[in-house]
Amino acid sequence: MTPSFNLWSEPWITLEKHDGSQEEASIEDALLRAQAYRTLYEPSPLIIAAIHRLLVAVLQAVVRPQTAGDLARLWRAGRFPADDIRRFGEDYGARFDLFSPDQPFMQSADLPLAPDKKSNAKSVGYLLQEQPAGTAVTHYNHTYDDRQQFCPACAAKGLLLIPPFASSGGAGIKPSINGVPPIYILPGGRSYFEMLAASLVTPPYQPDAAAQEDTPWWQHDPVVAAKREVTRVGYLHSLTFPARRVRLHPRPDQRPCTRCGAVSDWSVASMVYEMGESRPKDALFWRDPFAAYRVSGDEAPTPIRPVEGKAIWREFTGLFLPTTPDSGASKGRAFYRPNLLNQLDELWELDEAVLPFRAGRYPFRTIGLRTDMKMKIFEWEEAGFEVPATVLFNQRAAGKVRDGIEFARQCEGILKGMYQRYFSGRATELPDAGPIKGSAALKAQMAQRYWQQLGDAFRLWLLRFEPAAGLEILAADWLQTVVRVGSDVFRETAESLNSGASDALVCEQAINHCRASLYSLRNKMKENKA
Ligand SMILES: [Zn+2]
Repeated sequence: MTPSFNLWSEPWITLEKHDGSQEEASIEDALLRAQAYRTLYEPSPLIIAAIHRLLVAVLQAVVRPQTAGDLARLWRAGRFPADDIRRFGEDYGARFDLFSPDQPFMQSADLPLAPDKKSNAKSVGYLLQEQPAGTAVTHYNHTYDDRQQFCPACAAKGLLLIPPFASSGGAGIKPSINGVPPIYILPGGRSYFEMLAASLVTPPYQPDAAAQEDTPWWQHDPVVAAKREVTRVGYLHSLTFPARRVRLHPRPDQRPCTRCGAVSDWSVASMVYEMGESRPKDALFWRDPFAAYRVSGDEAPTPIRPVEGKAIWREFTGLFLPTTPDSGASKGRAFYRPNLLNQLDELWELDEAVLPFRAGRYPFRTIGLRTDMKMKIFEWEEAGFEVPATVLFNQRAAGKVRDGIEFARQCEGILKGMYQRYFSGRATELPDAGPIKGSAALKAQMAQRYWQQLGDAFRLWLLRFEPAAGLEILAADWLQTVVRVGSDVFRETAESLNSGASDALVCEQAINHCRASLYSLRNKMKENKA
């Protein structure tokens, strides 16, 4: 029996239909019937991003959109061109077989299909580095490695994590095309067709550094050279970037998959998993259209990534707002939002009717993998945002949101400063009573509560940015909200430190001082605007 599992023609992608039921589809069926599905379904958001990027890569090759007009026509058609999809399958379908002897999907054909003495076989568990619970669980899993075995679908999903999420992994193991993984933004839509259509990118929005000549996986040499530095990378090559040199070892085995429980004809317990392709250290800046970047001075932009303890909405400015010359560049900080959003702006200008703005808002999902920037994987982070068109495309509205988040950051500074002054336990120039002894943990807790409460308020505030909304009133309301949340959180913190008579006065003083400083900053902001 020859092992085979062809991702182009066999069902392995779980999709949710409009009635909420789920079904499995092949790549071909997922694309042909994208309009019949609501969305991709997977327990791991990382795998959702990974599968989405593969489907986008195939569609880029099938549709070849050159202008916003091409995209508008596609939206109006409401489905992807069936003949072109079938023709692609005839030409390249064979390249999607996981276990092909001479051109295995996203693997290196020079490695044998079975473990041998020369190659260093590893557990297939290494493919799914996205354990949600941090290093402890990963360590536990080592004892468990021998028992790990995946069905073809789970093995394929693991392979697909490599292009977007392969990170640094010890000596000589370099990250994939985007470096230590950024936060990816995926556009939503009323159907999976719309989510995919909104993810297609015309040449002006593809990375500037992308080579004209492109070798997506289905045209790539079926051998992945070990540790090869590639200097010329096309856009579709980047979406299917073989950052690892892998070969799965299929065996006929009908025990259930340790990840999903499915029983299949073939399963994979071991593989070769080594360093594959990377870009040279001094390569030109690669701007992935789904990622956002922070620009600081003359240095190369760095992707916005998940940060421990920092709620994702605090990155809203960089992730969603249009870039302007005055969007913080003067303070040494500026952002590039995902180029995909700039393309949506152009499409919106051209033909408002095609984009699925429900009540003037567009849904997005953000997906990221938090690491220690080296080989430790901590957790995935996922969030959803409904972003009003006004905020995405109107500079004045975007400016209000940007200033609002910056104001919240400055107010956090006031809260922390006041905590330091009254609750650090060190002698200060305070009159009457001495300062109270707080703790670093309590201070951190205060900041966390502040951002959490503001996050809820921020989402509600965002929804009020309708086309006719009075921007000055919205801005003033937000300043008031921040001052109120800041005062409340500081008061609660101070009161928790009040253990009796001599402390009461200091606490009261601290609370009043903090409130006065917050109001004074608010008034200064208002005056600046006037
Ligand atoms: Zn499975």
